Amino acid sequence: MTSGTSCDQPSRSLISTSLATPALRADRWLSVLDLARKWSGTNSADIKSCLSSSLNKLDDLERFFAYPGSQLLERLRTCLTDDDNKAFLRLAQRISTTIISRKYHRDASAWTTDDHDDEPLNRLPQAITHLKNIPYFEVLSVVPHAPSRWPVIQEEARGVRRPEDDFIYQPVIVGNAQDALTAILLNPDLGAVVLYEGFSAQSPADNPLLAVFQSIIDFTTIGDDETLVLQVAQAIKKIRPELDLYLLSDRNIEALAGKPESRFFNRIFYQMEEPLELHLSILEGIRNRYRTPFFDNLKRYAQRPIATFHALPIARGKSVFTSNWISDMGEFYGPNLFLAESSATTGGLDSLLEPTGNIKDAQAMAAQAFGADHAFFVTNGTSTSNKMVLQALLAPGDIVILDRNCHKSHHYGCVLAGALPYYVEAFPLVEYSMYGGVPLSTIKQALLTLKAQGDLERVKMVDLTNCTFDGHVYDTRRVMEECLAIKPDLIFLWDEAWFGFAHWSPLLRQRTAMGAAAALTEALAQPAAQKAWDEQVGILGQNPDDATLLNTRLVPDPRAVRLRVYQTNSVHKSMSALRQGSIVLVKDVDFEHVESQFHEAVFTHASTSPNLQIIASLDVARRQMQLEGYGLVSNALQIALEIRKQVNNHPLISKYFRVLNSAEMIPEAYRKSGMADYNDPSTSWDKALQSIKDDEFLLDPTRMTLSCGAAGFDGTTFKNILADKFNIQLNKTSRNSVLLQSNINNTRSDIALLIRVLVDIATDIDKKILDNDEIYLKSLENRVHQLVDDLPELPNFSRFDDRYREQPSAKTLHGDIRRAFYDAYKESECEYVALDSAEIDQRLQSGPTLVSANFVIPYPPGFPIMVPGQVITQAIVDFMRKLDVKEIHGFNKALGLKLLKRTEKKENS
Ligand SMILES: *Cc1c(COP(=O)(O)O)cnc(C)c1O
Repeated sequence: MTSGTSCDQPSRSLISTSLATPALRADRWLSVLDLARKWSGTNSADIKSCLSSSLNKLDDLERFFAYPGSQLLERLRTCLTDDDNKAFLRLAQRISTTIISRKYHRDASAWTTDDHDDEPLNRLPQAITHLKNIPYFEVLSVVPHAPSRWPVIQEEARGVRRPEDDFIYQPVIVGNAQDALTAILLNPDLGAVVLYEGFSAQSPADNPLLAVFQSIIDFTTIGDDETLVLQVAQAIKKIRPELDLYLLSDRNIEALAGKPESRFFNRIFYQMEEPLELHLSILEGIRNRYRTPFFDNLKRYAQRPIATFHALPIARGKSVFTSNWISDMGEFYGPNLFLAESSATTGGLDSLLEPTGNIKDAQAMAAQAFGADHAFFVTNGTSTSNKMVLQALLAPGDIVILDRNCHKSHHYGCVLAGALPYYVEAFPLVEYSMYGGVPLSTIKQALLTLKAQGDLERVKMVDLTNCTFDGHVYDTRRVMEECLAIKPDLIFLWDEAWFGFAHWSPLLRQRTAMGAAAALTEALAQPAAQKAWDEQVGILGQNPDDATLLNTRLVPDPRAVRLRVYQTNSVHKSMSALRQGSIVLVKDVDFEHVESQFHEAVFTHASTSPNLQIIASLDVARRQMQLEGYGLVSNALQIALEIRKQVNNHPLISKYFRVLNSAEMIPEAYRKSGMADYNDPSTSWDKALQSIKDDEFLLDPTRMTLSCGAAGFDGTTFKNILADKFNIQLNKTSRNSVLLQSNINNTRSDIALLIRVLVDIATDIDKKILDNDEIYLKSLENRVHQLVDDLPELPNFSRFDDRYREQPSAKTLHGDIRRAFYDAYKESECEYVALDSAEIDQRLQSGPTLVSANFVIPYPPGFPIMVPGQVITQAIVDFMRKLDVKEIHGFNKALGLKLLKRTEKKENS
């Protein structure tokens, strides 16, 4: 390194940092390691000085973590001052590997200062050396004492450990509010926070890591006054609601305990009280989250000697293990699976359909963990969850505003419930043959049109997908606010099949159904909400026209609003549940009025033989997220952001492949902040903040659309190459892209593998091009043109045929999908016409109208280009004819399009 070169490492963009704050630590260690390697090779003084400043930066962070602790860091610094570059590198490597592998969770030797010296340094309890599997966490203490006292406080905390403790923790100490909030962002190991009254404020707003939370936390109220501790407690709960909080106060704690804010605390102690009590409470707090009522009981059940006389031969495994023919199944799954199978609801197993015991308990814990009032486990996937919610809340004739591109369970749910879907259209991304989300203006327009028609009363629900398959995340709060301004008792169903994990990201949580519902509940209770409504009425007057309503950011009337929010969530898609493990989350002020309907819907759709292992896995998935979800989700986000960066900045890979960024996935109109790319270091802080808070759509970073058209691959071909040659599996493709997803199980090695594979493929293409293979070049050019330029327009929903509409002349779009669906059961009323036939063209010209008899859903793109009763237009036929995918549900090429014949009789009800 020549003199004058700065030590700065390439930095992350602010927004990517704030989405995965814990990654900051890994970055700093990487930079120290990098320099340490250089230093040990060259012994350069410049590098040494960079290393020294790098180490200082690291110290700024490491004080928020128990491991490696001050002594190990001191040791590292000594190596630096002693010019012992080999020892420095060795120790730095050891520490960073230990952090990444989290070896310090399990192994006392990780805490020692010397490679050869196994003397436990931090006076870890003996427990950690011989009980390898006891879960480890860290406890943050926020104290008023001078830093010189901190070691004593730490010693005290360690001194109360007992060999019989079922968990083990290490203390971390900070001295002010800003550091407390920084610590909970950076340190995913934290399980509890102890606030000692009297610590100082030091405004959190000054810290850029925290400033991004301005929209949910009012930092201006955090000051050195007597409410400080309550303000900080509230702020912590907004960032990481799962953390247990304890207050140590020397004031009148009885009075404090009576205040509503005391609900943030698990317990309030008088400061002089026995530290053992605090210790036991901390362990109990963790134990409460660790508890999995159903799973715990299932394990107990499996161990009991039970003779079964119910119908489930596989239970206890006897029919399996004694068989000559199927015992391999027993060997494969192991005995526990069979011991845990039962069709009984006795023996403490409880009943999913009428839970009164541990399932009820487990559901209540899940509701609390996910920020809902009620939670219902579903063992047949979110496909069933959606149908349950639609049936429970909609009656025949009710209107539901529905994203036409939603999962098919919603369409079928309408058929079953007899509700009339009013299809609204998402914005198209023609270049990639996919759709985004439904613009708010489209939803408002639909409501206003219905209102003008006198049908607003019949609109019961707005049903949207958040996030979409491709990662479009709504501003859930704003959508609800503005819709409620038009109709204050609308019910919202947010299909968050993919987005369940988002609850454990403090930034993404704001854009989940439950996160937004909580924020909205809080906001509507403030006097400001009433004021905003009154002001709006003053400005808009009593009868504003549609254009004004569309162009105004509407606020609802807090006195009129009934907030009714439902979220469905495929726990198996983003958390550790077995396939089909799904959950319905409810935050509905009127739930008591629909509870019995809700149970009817459960009875309609749920199996009477629910899979016990799926229920157990839902219970366990909740436990995991509550105890380590914050770190896991942040890791998944970090990996996604890293993949985005690596692919798009790689000189070779980026010639043919690209992970689409926000600017490519979301039209500018829905991205007012101008935020274009998570990894763009020039994105200003304001922009990042505004984008998360206010942009109509945000891209979920973990859903990465990798465009492969420039490499001459269509999505399906590329997906198969990845699967067959490289063992990389993914499930969604578009015409010219594949969708990569990161989740809580990904590691940095996965990034390396993916990059390796893309380099291989790109090298291969490069080589063929260099070889000047004329035939290859020509065909590549053709394919790229077909995939990238020659894309069919995506056909919008046309309309229902008049016979399925109540008022054919009306502007409203809803239709009786259920009647159309059943008309198709009458063979005599159906006909088939070949897609290529002249008859189609002729009828498009001069009628009779072509009316689809069923759902036609091509994969990809996976949305229904026709639904029962829908009028088939030229655009749809063009799209179908251009479509070169093999899998089209509801369409048999040999037979042709299935149509509903024109019948003369009109069935007007
Ligand atoms: C996968 C999915 C569903 C269905 O969920 P399952 O758990 O597979 O039944 C519903 N909606 C959306 C948006 C999905 O992606």
